[in-house]
Amino acid sequence: MKTPRPLTELARVLAELPGIGPKTAQRLALHLALDKGLAGRLAETLEMARARLGVCKVCGNLAEGELCPVCADPNRDGSVIAVVETPADVMAIEKSGEFRGRYHVLGGALNPLEGIGPDELNVDGLLKRLEGVREVLLATSTTVEGEATAVYLSERLRPFGVRVTRPAYGLPAGGNLEYVDEVTLARALAHRRPVEE
Ligand SMILES: [Zn+2]
Repeated sequence: MKTPRPLTELARVLAELPGIGPKTAQRLALHLALDKGLAGRLAETLEMARARLGVCKVCGNLAEGELCPVCADPNRDGSVIAVVETPADVMAIEKSGEFRGRYHVLGGALNPLEGIGPDELNVDGLLKRLEGVREVLLATSTTVEGEATAVYLSERLRPFGVRVTRPAYGLPAGGNLEYVDEVTLARALAHRRPVEE
């Protein structure tokens, strides 16, 4: 049997999403083809999110408008900045409930093999935010790239005389923050340690 082309196209685009294989994409496409109401709501919501979501001009987190919810919150502690790779990491740390400071989102980690150097990351934005900051918590992931990024940043931060820390034990090596359970992440943040020089 030949599949209608719109269905094939829909499945092809859905399969571009992370974690969605071809089979799941086909199942989702069929589901949407048969449920016009859901397809309509999904289309409208996607368009709304696409139009309204942007990047926070201070920290690089996702935002509606100029500032993300954390930067817009006057009750957050501006003297501590947690540096993370992605907005997903911000969400993971927020869920742990352990951190009351502010964030800085790099947009990835150093990865020479994929052509991601310091210029591709939001590093300058961080160095421009250090006035009144007493601690920078390098909460990049425990992958090789995340560790290399933390080492690079600690060197760039040294001239500023700011305390540089890293989340402590309990975080599995090779892991992204977003996959760490909340309790482990909360403990790692509570027991952060200075980066050795
Ligand atoms: Zn922000």
